[in-house]
Amino acid sequence: MKAIILSDFGDPSQLKVEEVPTPVLGTHDVLVQVKAAGVCHHDLLHRAGKLTGAPKGVILGHEVAGRIVAIGPAVTRHQVGDRVTGYQRRFCGQCRDCLRGRQDLCRAVSLPAVDTEGAYAEYIRLPAVSAIRIPDNVTYQQAALASCPIGTAMRALVSQAGLTAGETVLINGASGGLGIHQIQIARALGAHVIAVTGDAAKASRLKELGASSVVVAPDGNYSAEVWNRTSKHGVDVAMENLGFTLSQTLRATGMGGRIVVLGNIIPKAVEVSPGLLIGRRLRVQGSGSATLDEVSQSLAMISSGIVTPQIDRIMPFTQAAQAHALLESRQVHGRIILSEW
Ligand SMILES: [Zn+2]
Ligand SMILES: [Zn+2]
Repeated sequence: MKAIILSDFGDPSQLKVEEVPTPVLGTHDVLVQVKAAGVCHHDLLHRAGKLTGAPKGVILGHEVAGRIVAIGPAVTRHQVGDRVTGYQRRFCGQCRDCLRGRQDLCRAVSLPAVDTEGAYAEYIRLPAVSAIRIPDNVTYQQAALASCPIGTAMRALVSQAGLTAGETVLINGASGGLGIHQIQIARALGAHVIAVTGDAAKASRLKELGASSVVVAPDGNYSAEVWNRTSKHGVDVAMENLGFTLSQTLRATGMGGRIVVLGNIIPKAVEVSPGLLIGRRLRVQGSGSATLDEVSQSLAMISSGIVTPQIDRIMPFTQAAQAHALLESRQVHGRIILSEW
C-alpha cells in the first residue's frame, strides 16, 4: 500500500510517499481503507522530533475514518463494509482504567502514530474495539474529527471542567482545531463564550460559531481585556489550548475557576503564581484525548447538528508535507483533512 513515512525528524519535507506492506490482521483486528485523515498539531510535534520517545520511520496520523475491508476471525461486532472512525489511541481494555471507562488514562500502549501505524496511509489496522460506527448522515471527513479534536474538546469542557449553562468560558487558540469545536459545544451547553484569537480576520467566523465575545490579541496578552469584559470577575472556566499562555489564562480566571490545559503547541515551562492559585482558589488540570464513550457522544453531536466539524480544506495524501507547512503557518481555520491519493 501507499503510505506517508516520517523518514526523519525535521521539516515537512521529511514526510515521504513510500510503498509499504499492507498491515496483516490479528485475530481481533479490522483492516480499514482510510477515507479521511485529520492533520493534528500532535503530528507536527512528532514530525519535528518534539515528542519524547516518539520514533521516526513511522506513519503519522491518529484522526481517521474509513471503510472496513477485512476483519479478523474473532471479530463479531463489525463486518466488511462498515463505516468507522478510529479511537485516537491504543488501549489495553483490561486495566483498571479501561474497565471503568477511562481509556484515556490507559498507559498500556500508546497513540497509533507514536506506536508505528498511523492514518496517513491507504489502510490502517485497528483493534476492533477501537473502531466506532459512523452514523449514516456523517461523512468520512467529518467523522475523522470525532475522536480528536471534537472528543478531546468535549472531554475537557464537559467531563473535566463541568461547564454548565450560564457560566462564562474563555477559549484561547479559538480558531484552532480544539477551539472552534469547543465554542460550538460550550454554546450548545448554554455557556457564554469569550474566544481569544491572534488574528482579527478570524473574529467574525468565531462569532458565527457561537462566541459571544472575541478578544483579538496578536501579542498574546489578553488577561486584562478578558477581565474587563467580565466586569472584573474573570471567567468561570478556561480552556488553555496553547500552553505557553497559561499565566495569561490564570489571570483571566475568576474566583473558584477551573482551568483545563489541553494544548501545548510550543513545549516549554511557564510561570505559575502559587499566590494566584491560592487567592482565587483555582483548579488547574490537564486533559488529553477522550474516552471511547465520549467519541460516540461526539459522533452523535455531529449527527444531530449540534457540532459542525470545521474543515479548512481537503488535500490529497501526497500533499501531506504541504498540509503540515500550512498548519504550521497558522493560515488555516479548522482541520486540514487528507483524502484520496
Ligand atoms: Zn489530534
Ligand atoms: Zn488499559
